[in-house]
Amino acid sequence: MATLVAFHAHPDDEVLLTGGTLARAAAEGHRVVVVVATDGTMGPVPEQGAPRLGELRASAAILGVHRVEHLGYADSGHGAVLYPDPPDRTRFVRAAPEEAAARLAALLREEKADMLLSYDPNGWYGHRDHVRVHEVGKRAAELAGVKRVREATTPHDFALRLVRLIRLLRIPLRFDDATLRAVGSPSSAITHRVNVRRFAKQKQAALAAHHSEVQGDGRSAAVMRALVRLPTPVFALLLGREWYIDSARE
Ligand SMILES: [Zn+2]
Repeated sequence: MATLVAFHAHPDDEVLLTGGTLARAAAEGHRVVVVVATDGTMGPVPEQGAPRLGELRASAAILGVHRVEHLGYADSGHGAVLYPDPPDRTRFVRAAPEEAAARLAALLREEKADMLLSYDPNGWYGHRDHVRVHEVGKRAAELAGVKRVREATTPHDFALRLVRLIRLLRIPLRFDDATLRAVGSPSSAITHRVNVRRFAKQKQAALAAHHSEVQGDGRSAAVMRALVRLPTPVFALLLGREWYIDSARE
């Protein structure tokens, strides 16, 4: 049996892009480890007890993940302004990539990882922490000698289709089509398509475990809420596949 380590930027990212793959790997008897770079703390002051890490643990338990680790950084945010560091830690993009890669590589060695899941070069949709996950993941795999790196992505039309369906449910979402088409990768770059329809129920329940994200305001929370409320067969149609790029062929 193999050990799969999935490296993510924030609590909740593990579900949308890789949740089905993690559940499937665990169900097939592999060891599954999730590592997040940040605890999702955005504000200048640490939130009491890092609620998003607790939600991540709940989500991971639903997916059958064996171990969850946090590399110790704070969320760098997606807005124009990069907030100052909270008092007790560094925002992920302010940390030296080599230092972050060394922390991840130590975990990869300890776990004797056979495969690392990371993100495509654009970090799926351009969030600065996600782009950094791509860079740090690649370097950590080199340092630890992990040969197989699979970069999570979606085909370019995926986000557009998802948002259109959510709009059909009369949930208004203000995204323009050009922005949505830039999310993910061209189909020609994708090397692995994983069927995870059987794990849709787990994936949807894991998404629902991220209470603070589902209940938040803003566009991503509206998307999360819509997905959590979908009938599971519809959720399975939309999110029953996951896509990866073999980094060796990038
Ligand atoms: Zn994220």
